[in-house]
Amino acid sequence: MEKKQFQAESKRLLEMMINSIYTQREIFLRELISNSSDAIDKIYYKALTDDSLVFDKDSYFIKVIADKTNRTLTIRDTGIGMTKEDLENNLGIIAKSGSLAFKKDNEAKDGHNIIGQFGVGFYSAFMVADVVTVTSKALGSDTAYKWESTGTDGYTIEAAEKDSVGTEIVLQIKANTEDDNYDEFLDEYRLKAIIKKYSDFIRYPIKMDVAGKRLKEGTEDEFEDYQDEQQLNSMVPIWRKNKSELTPEDYEKFYHEKHYGFDKPLKHIHVSADGAVVYQAILFVPESMPFDYYSKEYEKGLELYANGVLIMNKCADLLPDYFSFVKGMVDSESLSLNISREMLQHDRQLKLIAKNIQSKIKSQLQSMLKDEREKYETFYKSFGRQLKFGVYSDYGTHKDVLQDLLMFHSSNEKKLVTLDEYIARMPEDQKYIYYASGESMERIDKLPQTEIVTDKGYEILYFTDDIDEFAIKMIMTYKEKEFKSVSSGDLGIEADDKSETEADKSENKELFDYMTSLLSGKVSNVKASKRLKKHPVCLSTDGDMTIEMEKILNAMPNNPNVKAEKVLEINMNHEVFGSLKDAFEKDKEKLNLYTALLYNQALLIEGLPLQDPVEFTNDICKIMV
Ligand code: ADP
Repeated sequence: MEKKQFQAESKRLLEMMINSIYTQREIFLRELISNSSDAIDKIYYKALTDDSLVFDKDSYFIKVIADKTNRTLTIRDTGIGMTKEDLENNLGIIAKSGSLAFKKDNEAKDGHNIIGQFGVGFYSAFMVADVVTVTSKALGSDTAYKWESTGTDGYTIEAAEKDSVGTEIVLQIKANTEDDNYDEFLDEYRLKAIIKKYSDFIRYPIKMDVAGKRLKEGTEDEFEDYQDEQQLNSMVPIWRKNKSELTPEDYEKFYHEKHYGFDKPLKHIHVSADGAVVYQAILFVPESMPFDYYSKEYEKGLELYANGVLIMNKCADLLPDYFSFVKGMVDSESLSLNISREMLQHDRQLKLIAKNIQSKIKSQLQSMLKDEREKYETFYKSFGRQLKFGVYSDYGTHKDVLQDLLMFHSSNEKKLVTLDEYIARMPEDQKYIYYASGESMERIDKLPQTEIVTDKGYEILYFTDDIDEFAIKMIMTYKEKEFKSVSSGDLGIEADDKSETEADKSENKELFDYMTSLLSGKVSNVKASKRLKKHPVCLSTDGDMTIEMEKILNAMPNNPNVKAEKVLEINMNHEVFGSLKDAFEKDKEKLNLYTALLYNQALLIEGLPLQDPVEFTNDICKIMV
C-alpha cells in the first residue's frame, strides 16, 4: 500500500511531539476526547435541522478502553465520523491555528510551549503512542476507512469494517524507557484522574469499562469476575448551572476543589453573558492574601475553557494587574481549542470578555463597599495596596476605575474612610483634602504640621503605605477637590492674625535671611510659620515632591537621589524664638549652634536621617555645660 507523506510543516511538528520530553503528555487524552465531543456536537446540530435524524442522548457517548495486555488505549465515539477525504484532509495536515503558532512562537523550539499550553489536537497522540490507528465511518456513508500512522514516516488509508457511525482511535502505547513511564496511560485509575481533571465538563458521557473481581452474591468467600461500565465525567459544570440552583456552599466547594485558595472566599461572582460575547465565568474575591501575593512569583490569571474544555490554567490576559487577586474561570464557546497564547492575546473575543469581567469585578466590589462594609474592609486590608498600585501604574490610566474603591484611615475616628465619605463631611469652608504621610498613625499624630489642620476641625487622611502619596499624585483632584499634604507650603488655611505675621516677618527678615544662609544647601528657606502652635520648629516643602516621597524614592534599589525642596519653619510664638533673636543680636556663635540644633530636630521629627549624628549630640552637650 502506498504511504502518503505528511506536509513538511506537520512533519516537523510531529517530530517535535514524538521526541517531546514534555511532562504533561497526559493532555493528549483531553485533545482526543474533545475531538470526539466536537464530533458528537456535529451530529447533534444536524439532528436539530434534519428530521430524519433523531438525537437520542443515550446513544451518544465517548468510551475509553485500556488494554494492558496489548498495550492499547482506545477512544471510541458515536460522533459524526469521517469520510476517506476527511481522514486525508483532517489528519494529513495540522490544524491551521496550530501550524501558525508553530511558526510564530520562537520559544516553542522544543515544543514545550505549544504542546503544554494549547495542545495541537490529534497529533498529541504521538506523544504517547508509536502507532495511531483511526477507524471511522461517516454519517450517511456505507464504507468505513482506516487511517494509520507510525508518526513522521507518513500514513496509509484503506477501507475497513465498522458497523456503526463514529470514530475509533487506537493508540499503541509506547514501551517504557529508562526515563519515561508510559504504563500510566494504561492504568485505570490514572486515566480516570486525567479525565476528571481535564474533561469533567464534557457534555456527553465519557465511559470506561472497569473489570475486576468481587465477592459473589450470597457468599462470603467466593469471588467472581465482573465487568462494569462507569461514567467518569460529571457533565454539567457548575458555571453552566442556574444561579438559583446553587448555594454559597456550592461555590465554596468549587473554590476549594479547584485549589483557588485555602481560605473562604469573600465573594463569588457568577456571570452568564450572552450579549456581544457569550461566556460563563465564576470569579472569586479571596479573603486572605496568598503568601507570595506581593512578590514576583505570584502569577495572576483565570482558568480558560473553550466550550467546556480547559485550554489554559492561568490566562493572564483576562485580568488587569490591579485585580490580580481575583481567582476563577471563564468558559466561552467563541474560543477555539487550538488557539495559541500569542494569538489569544490578540483575540477580539477574549478582549471583550476581559473588559466585561473587569467591569463586573468593579461593580461587585462597589456593592460590597456599599452593602457589606465589614467584608469590604477585610478585602481592603489584603488587597487595597494592589488597588493603589493600580491607580499609580500606567501614568494613572486606571484611576477612574479605581478611585472610588480607595480607603484611608483618617484623623476623625481612626477608621477607614472612602474619598466620598471624606468629602461628604468636609466643613463648608474647607478647600482641600488634607493628608499626612508617615510610618504609622501614631507617628503622624505627633507631627507638628497636623496641628493647625486638626485645630481647624478638618479631617486628615493618614498615608501610611509607601504607595499612597504616589497614587494620590496621579488622582490630583477628587470631585474637584485638590489633595494637600499637611507639610506643603500653602495649606489654604488663612492665619487668623495675618497682618501681625506679616509685620513680624519683615521685622525679623534679617534673622531669617541669616539662618537661611547658615543652612544653605539643606533648606531653601527659613521662615516664620503660620501653622505651628506648640512646637518650635518643623519642615515643610515647596513644590510637588514631599519629604515622604523623597524618603521612599531614595530607599529604592536604583536610588535616584532626589531631594524635596525643604523649608524650615519657625514658630514665632515659641520661647525658643526669643532665644534666637537674642543670639542674633549678641552672640552669632550661639545662633549657629541653635540653628543647627533646630534643623536637626526638624529632620528627626520627619524621620529623616541626620547627616552627622555625632555633631548633633556634641551640640546638645554644648548647651548642657
Ligand atoms: P482541531 O480539533 O483543532 O480541528 P485536530 O488535529 O484535533 O484539530 O483535528 C483535526 C480535525 O479532524 C478536526 O477538526 C475534525 O474535523 C477531525 N477529527 C478529529 N477527531 C475526530 C473524531 N473523533 N471524529 C470526527 N472528526 C474528527
